[in-house]
Amino acid sequence: MSSLPDSITQLIAALAKLPGFGPRSAERIALHLVQTDSAAVRQLADAILIAREKIQFCTICGALTEKSPCPICDDLRRDSALLCVVERAVDILSVEKSGTFRGKFHVLGGKISPLDGVEPEDLKISDLEKRLAGEPIKEIIIALGTDVEGDATSNYLAKRLARGGLKISRIGFGLPAGSGLEFADELTLNRALESRREMT
Ligand SMILES: [Zn+2]
Repeated sequence: MSSLPDSITQLIAALAKLPGFGPRSAERIALHLVQTDSAAVRQLADAILIAREKIQFCTICGALTEKSPCPICDDLRRDSALLCVVERAVDILSVEKSGTFRGKFHVLGGKISPLDGVEPEDLKISDLEKRLAGEPIKEIIIALGTDVEGDATSNYLAKRLARGGLKISRIGFGLPAGSGLEFADELTLNRALESRREMT
């Protein structure tokens, strides 16, 4: 039985549900918070609530944004002929950090992984097909991780999206094997984008 007051136990349980928080770190943060100045704790709680209320997914590309369409989709200076396909919304930040990509994005929302029950129809692939029909896209750059699911998803996309006048390429060269974009530094991502190879 826990000797901690109920409210602390509940706070620990809530924190432990966050990704990257084990029971030990949840307990450490909870004990820190209950001993912190209450104005500072209120500020933190407000920041969480405000961010959650303001942030939504861009209805076009799937980016995290305060207004939809997001600033990238809305930016007329960006190249609408170039579309970078990423797994998650946060991967957009990784590609943006590389500083050289001037096209637009599409978030798939995952990778095909039959073992985890993720099938093509669980991903935003039909949305991508709709964009291909309605936007002047000339090249799709697939920027998925280099693990087995990333490979399988890239090959699936290359086959399903193949059509006349559309180039489909994949970044990969120089990316650490078996990893996602978040592990690549800016220079590596830059090289991976520049050395993308054509799939179709
Ligand atoms: Zn967008």
